[in-house]
Amino acid sequence: MQATKNTAPETITVESPVVACDGGGGALGHPRVYLNMGDKTEIDCPYCGRAYLLKDGAGHHGH
Ligand SMILES: [Zn+2]
Repeated sequence: MQATKNTAPETITVESPVVACDGGGGALGHPRVYLNMGDKTEIDCPYCGRAYLLKDGAGHHGH
């Protein structure tokens, strides 16, 4: 049987523009880093490739 390669990075929805990523442990784990989206609404972890997507409406200083 041919193993299916599953290297597609995850997309994780977060409610804060600053996220801490440690790769989730295991083979893809890496030292914890903090990622700041700044004015953007998404950021990719340069270590494990996970995509963090800011939840719609989160981080927006509204009422
Ligand atoms: Zn990561």
